[in-house]
Amino acid sequence: MQRFQLYIDGAFCDGEASFESLDPATGTAWAQMPEAREADVDRAVESAHKALYDGAWSRMTATQRGKLLYKLADLVAANASRLAELETRDTGKIIRETSAQIAYVAEYYRYYAGIADKIEGSYLPIDKPDMEVWLRREPVGVVAMVVPWNSQLFLSAVKVGPALAAGCTLVLKASEDGPAPLLEFARLVHEAGFPPGVVNVITGFGPSCGAALGRHPRIAHVAFTGGPETARHVVRNSAENLASTSLELGGKSPFIVFADADLESAANAQVAGIFAATGQSCVAGSRLIVERSVKDRFIAILKRKAEAVRIGSPLDMATEVGPLATARQRQHISELVERSTAAGARIVTGGWMPEGGGFYYPPTILDCDGVDSPSLVEEFFGPVLSVVSFETEEEALLLANDTVYGLASGVFTQNLTRAHRLMKGIRAGVVWVNTYRAVSPIAPFGGFGLSGHGREGGLAAALDYTRTKTVWLRTSDDPIPDPFVMR
Ligand code: NAD
Repeated sequence: MQRFQLYIDGAFCDGEASFESLDPATGTAWAQMPEAREADVDRAVESAHKALYDGAWSRMTATQRGKLLYKLADLVAANASRLAELETRDTGKIIRETSAQIAYVAEYYRYYAGIADKIEGSYLPIDKPDMEVWLRREPVGVVAMVVPWNSQLFLSAVKVGPALAAGCTLVLKASEDGPAPLLEFARLVHEAGFPPGVVNVITGFGPSCGAALGRHPRIAHVAFTGGPETARHVVRNSAENLASTSLELGGKSPFIVFADADLESAANAQVAGIFAATGQSCVAGSRLIVERSVKDRFIAILKRKAEAVRIGSPLDMATEVGPLATARQRQHISELVERSTAAGARIVTGGWMPEGGGFYYPPTILDCDGVDSPSLVEEFFGPVLSVVSFETEEEALLLANDTVYGLASGVFTQNLTRAHRLMKGIRAGVVWVNTYRAVSPIAPFGGFGLSGHGREGGLAAALDYTRTKTVWLRTSDDPIPDPFVMR
C-alpha cells in the first residue's frame, strides 16, 4: 500500500496516528495516510510562525518570493498528470477533469507570482506640517487553510498563491477524504526551495486536526472551504484566537433558461453544471429554473444527455461521470432523493443506487414543479438536478433568489436587456450568462449569504492576506511641545 507523510518545517514525517484512504472506484483501501493531531498541528504552526518572523523568508524581497512562486507554478505544470492521477485515485474525480484542472492550477501560481512585488503601500497627505505618514502593507500573519476533498489542488491554489505573494506563511490542512494530491504537492513546494516552515501541509480529522489548527493562538487568519455547518465551528473556534476568517461554502445555484435561449447549448452547460465532477462542485447549477413553454423540450434534451453519459472508472480518459468521493456522500444523496420523492418530486431519470463496489450514483433529474421538495433547498453535492418552471421574468428571479445560499448562477437568454436585469437582480457572487462553470485566476470568486464571505482569485485576494501598518515620522528637530496635548 502506498504511504504518504506530513510536511512540517521543511521535512517529511509521519503523523501521531495514521488511517487508510479508500479508492472510491472500488471501495477498498489503497493508501496509508498520516493523521496529524494536536501536537503535529502545534509543530506546524510554530514552524510557520518562526518562518514568518525569524528566518530566510522574512528576509526575502517580494520579488524573490515571486520567483519562488514562478518555480512552484512550473513544477505544478510539469507534474500535473502525476498529481491528477493521485487526485483521481484518492477522490474518484475523473482523470479527464483532474488533468485539465491541475494543469490550469499552475496559472494561479503564475498569476500570484506576478503580483508578489506589486503589493504597494501608500503615502498619506497628512494634515500636520512636521510629519511624514505612510501605510506599509505587511503579511497578515500565519494562515490556517482548510479545504474539502473536491478539487483540493485548485481550492488550495486560490489560498496558497495569494498568501505567499503577500508574504504570509501557512499550514494547509488537506481533507481526510482523499489527501494524497496535497501531500504530494508538498514535495513540489520542497523542490521549489521554499524555506522550512513557510508552507506546511498536514491532514487529519475535523475535530482533532482542523479545530486544533483553527483555534491555535498563533493563527491570524483562517481561510476555509467546506460546508456551512463546519464553517460555524470554524467561526466559533476563531472566538478563541480572534483570527479573521474567509469562508467559501456551499450553494444551491439557480440555472435559469428562457425560451429564447439556444437550448442545445444551454443543455450542455447544464450537464457541465450538474453532472461534471459527479456534481461534487460548490457551484453546481442544481436548480434548473426553466420557462414553462420549453420545459418539456429542454428536459427531453437533458434526459437524453444524462442517459448517454459514460459512467465508469475515473482513471479512464473516456469516463464522464465517476464515483462519489465517499460512501457517506452517496448515502446522503440517496436519502435526499428519497425524501424528495416522498414529498412528491418525480424522477425523470436516475434516482437509484447501483449495486457493486465503488461509490457510484447515476445522473439524476427530479421534476419538482408544484412540489415543496427538499431537493430544491438542501445541497446534494452530487449529480442530482431539481427542476421547476416559470411564466414571467419576475417569477424566474424570485425563484432564483429563493435560497439561503448565493454562490453562483446561470442565465440563458438571447435577450440582452433581460440578461442585464438578471445580472443585477440575482443575489449571488458569480453570474454566468450563456455559459457556466468558467473560472480564472483573474476573476474573483465567492458567495453571498450562507455561501460565505471573502473572495478568492483576483488582485484583491492577495491584499486580503495583508494588513496595514501606519508609520508616523516626525521631521522636526525641535523639542516635542506640550506633552499633555495630543498631536
Ligand atoms: P466539510 O465542511 O465537512 O469539510 C471541509 C474541511 O473542514 C475538511 O478538511 C474537514 O476535515 C475540516 N473540518 C471538519 N470539522 C472541522 C472543524 N471543527 N474545524 C476545522 N476544520 C474542520 O466539507 P466537505 O463535506 O468535505 O465538502 C463539501 C462542502 O464544501 C460542500 O458544502 C461544498 O459546497 C463546499 N465547497 C465549497 C467550495 C467553494 O469554493 N465555495 C468549493 C468546494 C466545496
